[in-house]
Amino acid sequence: MSANTTDIAIIGGGIAGLALALGLHQRGISSRVYEVAPEVKELGVGITILPHAMRELTAIGLQEQVVAAGVVNTQSAFFNRFGQLIYKEPRGRYAGYPYPEVGIHRGRLHTVLFNAAVERLGRDAVQTNRRCVGHEQDADGVTLSFQETTSGANLPPVRAGIAIACDGVNSVIRKQFYPNEDVAFEGINTWRGVARGKPILDGHTYLRIGSIKTGKIVIYPIIDNVDGQGNQLINWTTEAPLMGRPKNDWNKLGKLEDFLPIYENFRFDWLDVPELLRNSEVLLEYPMVDRDPVARWTFGRVTLMGDAAHAMYQRGSNGSAQALIDARVLSDLLQSTGDPLAALVAYEQKRLPVTAKIVHTNRTTPPDFINIKVEELVGDKPFDNLDRYISQDELKALSDNYKRIAGFGQQDMA
Ligand SMILES: Cc1cc2nc3c(=O)[nH]c(=O)nc-3n(C[C@H](O)[C@H](O)[C@H](O)COP(=O)(O)OP(=O)(O)OC[C@H]3O[C@@H](n4cnc5c(N)ncnc54)[C@H](O)[C@@H]3O)c2cc1C
Repeated sequence: MSANTTDIAIIGGGIAGLALALGLHQRGISSRVYEVAPEVKELGVGITILPHAMRELTAIGLQEQVVAAGVVNTQSAFFNRFGQLIYKEPRGRYAGYPYPEVGIHRGRLHTVLFNAAVERLGRDAVQTNRRCVGHEQDADGVTLSFQETTSGANLPPVRAGIAIACDGVNSVIRKQFYPNEDVAFEGINTWRGVARGKPILDGHTYLRIGSIKTGKIVIYPIIDNVDGQGNQLINWTTEAPLMGRPKNDWNKLGKLEDFLPIYENFRFDWLDVPELLRNSEVLLEYPMVDRDPVARWTFGRVTLMGDAAHAMYQRGSNGSAQALIDARVLSDLLQSTGDPLAALVAYEQKRLPVTAKIVHTNRTTPPDFINIKVEELVGDKPFDNLDRYISQDELKALSDNYKRIAGFGQQDMA
């Protein structure tokens, strides 16, 4: 089989891969994306685009489309499992940021990126139905092996100057560099879904209710007026300790009875959580996994990006943001250095330490730490006067600390 050739091969057409292709195109650098999915479908549940992620989407000209496809958050609010407000703060433009914060259906976000890539780069540059099964490199280039996803048939190899592995948390390219590594699992299961319902509070609030120790749920809207009758499509994500259950599967259909009992008492005068869960149209299970940070992403002509480089606990809504920042940083370096191999090294030096810190912070002190802290101080019971335990300024400091580490403190946004 004779090889196809490209200067830059991008393995995986997810958030990182498509953003990288768009960023390179904007700088006059051509690339090709190889994506395992036979076609792009609007699957999945919700995702939150924080202001620093929106800054990156804005830079590739997609802010308007993403905002139109999602719901802008006005505020983020933290409640205990008795429905009492612990802390709230304005978000995005409502907090003075230059960019909005948006809840969006993951499939819609992906479609916006995919359509933009196809429109700007051409359909040939975004190849679907291509499963990368490995790579080899020599002094002159990288050879990537592919199979057609639908048939399993071997395809002609692709020869590239450099290759960027954007193939997600279960990256085959990372596996070649780290064959003995597995995802890190510390005994937390998650279930995620979407349900139609009346807007909650102001209909633009990102809610965190309860703590991981006793069961936590995150709720936010992702589509306004989904049925023409004023209902929203509302995304929810639960996080619970194992409680004698096995580790959840990855992106498989989940069962309500496996976790509903934890939330049966989450009935407040402003929200009935069990009712929301029972109304779910989509219900998926995942384990809470990440990967221990590694010392290297770049090996000669190949580097890792996005979840392939730094899969993190899906707390704090930062996975996509960090993937988008990776893409912009590498695009800039490939443009400015003129030496692709040096650019890959500089990219790793710039991005690896920052993201490693976020991986650790998402394990120990994500934004949800506010709820854990209050539960520790008050005990697992309602409070009369929270100020007796912790001040609003202290809670704000916890929230601001996470933003600073994750790169979206107010000072980082200039
Ligand atoms: C359930 C869930 C909820 C999340 N919620 C949030 C959130 O609210 N906010 C947030 O910022 N982040 C969130 N994240 C994390 C975020 O989705 C990821 O960090 C982000 O998608 C990383 O982008 P990526 O391109 O690296 O990986 P992905 O988006 O996973 O893309 C990887 C791509 O590579 C393709 N691929 C895989 N293997 C191959 C192969 N062998 N050959 C070719 N292609 C391949 C895949 O099909 C996919 O398209 C969430 C993650 C999950 C799982």
